[in-house]
Amino acid sequence: MHKVTSLPADDSQCGWYHTSAVRTPRPGHEGVRTARWAIIGAGLTGLAAARRLAERFPNDEIVLIEAQEVGFGPSGRNAGFAIDLPHDIGADDYIGDITTARTVLDLNLVGQQYLKQTVEAHGIDCHLRASGKYQAAVEDSGVAVLDAYRRGLDKLGQAYEVVDGEVLASHIGTRFYRKALFTPGTMLVQPSAMVKGLADTLPANVTLYEHTPITGVDYGDKVTLHHARGQIVADTLLLTNNAFAMHFGFLRGRMLPIFTYGSLTRPLTLQEQAALGGKDFWGLIPAHPFGTTLRRTHDNRILVRNSFSYNADGQPRERCLRRFVKRHRTSFERRFPMLKEVPFDYTWGGSLAMSRNHESQFGQLAPNVYGALCCNGLGITRGTATGKLLADWLAGERNPVIDFLLASPGPNANPPALLLDIGVNLNLAWTQFTAGQEC
Ligand SMILES: Cc1cc2nc3c(=O)[nH]c(=O)nc-3n(C[C@H](O)[C@H](O)[C@H](O)COP(=O)(O)OP(=O)(O)OC[C@H]3O[C@@H](n4cnc5c(N)ncnc54)[C@H](O)[C@@H]3O)c2cc1C
Repeated sequence: MHKVTSLPADDSQCGWYHTSAVRTPRPGHEGVRTARWAIIGAGLTGLAAARRLAERFPNDEIVLIEAQEVGFGPSGRNAGFAIDLPHDIGADDYIGDITTARTVLDLNLVGQQYLKQTVEAHGIDCHLRASGKYQAAVEDSGVAVLDAYRRGLDKLGQAYEVVDGEVLASHIGTRFYRKALFTPGTMLVQPSAMVKGLADTLPANVTLYEHTPITGVDYGDKVTLHHARGQIVADTLLLTNNAFAMHFGFLRGRMLPIFTYGSLTRPLTLQEQAALGGKDFWGLIPAHPFGTTLRRTHDNRILVRNSFSYNADGQPRERCLRRFVKRHRTSFERRFPMLKEVPFDYTWGGSLAMSRNHESQFGQLAPNVYGALCCNGLGITRGTATGKLLADWLAGERNPVIDFLLASPGPNANPPALLLDIGVNLNLAWTQFTAGQEC
């Protein structure tokens, strides 16, 4: 039996989780059962894969297994930007090869449309809004990024609006930024509310087991999944558990579990809202990838996201939370001096699966085992799209987006583990430092 050596154990302070509707998790699995399909990981990728498999194979039984509770893991603790546009940080104009960029745009749109369609069809109350996003800069280097990205968007034929700092202040209330690019295609969402809703509206031929961490696997003609209270035997296994797939024996040393951190204020009072001004719902990402993401939420809170750490086992570190809440506070007060007295209600961290070459993994991993893994921090659209398309491909579909995913070389190898721990954390700290005021 292959033993799973690390299990997810996210911190309990995610603001999105606590401020979304309470739901009763589905019971954990007990005993022994069989199914045609088993999927490990009920985040955005697994939820999309399960839904699509059920649509494609209405007579098959699909089992979706989650170690924690749906909405509690990374899919419920992100910043809620469902982004349409490609942003290739390795290219001069952030768009790079135009054919690739067009396909990535199509891929992201598959994810956005599948989410929108499902949320609307089931009336999922998750504040999903096509509100666009600002990408904003304060440093010279950040302004240069925006100028380069603008050239890339022209090349791709995508709409944007350049927003000067003064005008931006009238949109979002802070005079902190010099310039922004507004792109209209991003949707913003309450992520935990969305995944809870997606879980509660799965088709009837999907059985979801929560609080069922898989601790061992026998690979073979059938795949047997072991956990503390029983076994699940499936013809085919889909891994949609991001960097934790390394503990199932796949892509070892190729994915990096990088944590990033969010804080959510309490709701602003009417007086504070008046002092802030601007629109009542917006989202802003930084020009520098290590800068600060901000949102004003549907319930009038401000979200701050920044800071990264490399936690090789995929588990949170209390000391990181303690350190990064201070950075969140500094970033918040720099931008919103008029809200200095507004405290954070919640501060949390969550894992991204990153690869050094920014490639993801899609397709077959072994006989009977498939994966949609490593969405490099863009899981809302990309995770949803790859989960859906994996099911489509297993149902025999081929199209240019599926072919593009299958042609990817996948995540490349990392340097040896010892160097990696020190190297990645030093590199993160240095890059964070170079973000300057953008952070
Ligand atoms: C603070 C923060 C902000 C972010 N902001 C954004 C954003 O604005 N937009 C965006 O697109 N992305 C964002 N991301 C990234 C996004 O959250 C991830 O890319 C996304 O969650 C990936 O989805 P997934 O379903 O592939 O994996 P996950 O959400 O990681 O789901 C995998 C699931 O597998 C389960 N699992 C793992 N091992 C086992 C096991 N042994 N047994 C059973 N279950 C197991 C885990 O519990 C987990 O729930 C952000 C992330 C963080 C942390």
